[in-house]
Amino acid sequence: MSILYIFMMLSCSQNASDYVQITQGNMPLVISAPHDGYEKPQSMADRSEGVIVRDTGARTIADHLADEIFLRCGRRPYVVTTTLHRIKCDMNREITEAAQGDKNAEAVWQVYHDALAAASDDAQQYGGGQILFLDIHGHGHPNDWIEVGHAAPLDGSEWISGKTSVGAYLTSQGFKAVPSPEIPNPGDEKYFNGGYITRHYRSDAVRTIQFELSGPMRKKDKRHDTARRLAAALSEFVPAHFVMPKFEVIVQEVTKENNYKSFYKKFNRAVNVFGLTVVADKKAPEDKLVHQAWVMYQYLDNDQNGFVDNYKVVEFLQNEKAYMFLTSKRFNPERHEKDGWNVAQDCFADETRPNGLPFNEDADEFDATLEEVWHLISNGYVAVYPEIFGLDPDSSRLTAAMDVARGGQFERIPRPYPDEAWYSYYDFSCEYQCMAMEYFYWGLTTLLDAQSHPLRAEQIKGEWRLTTPEQLRAGDKLLSELLEDIKYKLPTRLPQPISAP
Ligand SMILES: [Zn+2]
Repeated sequence: MSILYIFMMLSCSQNASDYVQITQGNMPLVISAPHDGYEKPQSMADRSEGVIVRDTGARTIADHLADEIFLRCGRRPYVVTTTLHRIKCDMNREITEAAQGDKNAEAVWQVYHDALAAASDDAQQYGGGQILFLDIHGHGHPNDWIEVGHAAPLDGSEWISGKTSVGAYLTSQGFKAVPSPEIPNPGDEKYFNGGYITRHYRSDAVRTIQFELSGPMRKKDKRHDTARRLAAALSEFVPAHFVMPKFEVIVQEVTKENNYKSFYKKFNRAVNVFGLTVVADKKAPEDKLVHQAWVMYQYLDNDQNGFVDNYKVVEFLQNEKAYMFLTSKRFNPERHEKDGWNVAQDCFADETRPNGLPFNEDADEFDATLEEVWHLISNGYVAVYPEIFGLDPDSSRLTAAMDVARGGQFERIPRPYPDEAWYSYYDFSCEYQCMAMEYFYWGLTTLLDAQSHPLRAEQIKGEWRLTTPEQLRAGDKLLSELLEDIKYKLPTRLPQPISAP
């Protein structure tokens, strides 16, 4: 092959599709960012009319936004972006104005719009037929606000500027947004109401919205923070108006090569639950693995709207690679911190009882999954809210309450506990911090009504004596008021086995 021939291949090798980046999704959300391209190929003429300015940062923010949404719901939006500069083609115009007659530019426009159309169609299978379509841009207006383009009159209706409008959720994340309940219309200020893409893709099934982000929001060092706050807003807006797919337990193989390789010697299966993990050893029954994962899912997304309820807590656990390990025999496992798996909790097969108390009234033993999975999740609450859920004496509202529940502040276990104590754990291997973890578990599961069965109440009376939600609310106000404070987004419904109706 001659050098000249190689050169020709290189110069002709840019296909229209090379300028368009497409990420396949699996949720009812499509994200587009058409105006942040930087490539200016010689093979295309510059556009001679219309706006040619780039929406710098919008493409990066779209990509970060997709990643941040994935962390909160375990699913990926569809993302379509272009690296072709707007001076060559404007994807947010109809094709004549977009490409101004250049055939190569028209070809890229076609690829971009074919991708958006395919994504819009495909996403509908995940949303019960209804999807959200977001077109992300940047404005250069003086106001540091998000111009939310509905391509519709700003008539004050619920969808436009009500309590469940996207402007309301953006405001709650610290953005200014127009329209929103605070700023229902832009008045005399400059404002973009939605362009070609917003108008073109709208249908009964597709709700389209354009976001025009301000310059400060798109500064290089602010892009990730902007995406995080957009994701937090969408984590509330999407489930308020759209149906997310139901959580699925997907059992994966542990291999020497994949994310779970640290466990390869003893464990052969793993389930990912919002970035947290349950691993099972080779002899552990599959239904018990599924049960632990299902309980974890219900604790994390207790309202079952598809997004985790308290992302700060989950984020900590994701970063620490928190995991449950299900083993067929009781043993002390090797550690996995060297591979970043820093927060661990065991739950043995013989105590994992999907058919035990409190799910099955006729059972005589309790399902420890409810306890052990909660202990794992508690680590996130302790880390994120040390002054509320910290475990050291005099450090938090949790331990202040516990000192009352135990009849005093005991760094060593008293023999016996004072008569007035209703929490009296005598396990001498469990020191003060461990006592506080157990107290958190007792309080929460009591409020979820997991401990009130008469047989169960009898079994635990040596350790815990307020076993119904009513008894706890009356007898331990410090704890019940803390756990029912909606600020912390703790579970309010008891997880159920996967087979439950
Ligand atoms: Zn734009």
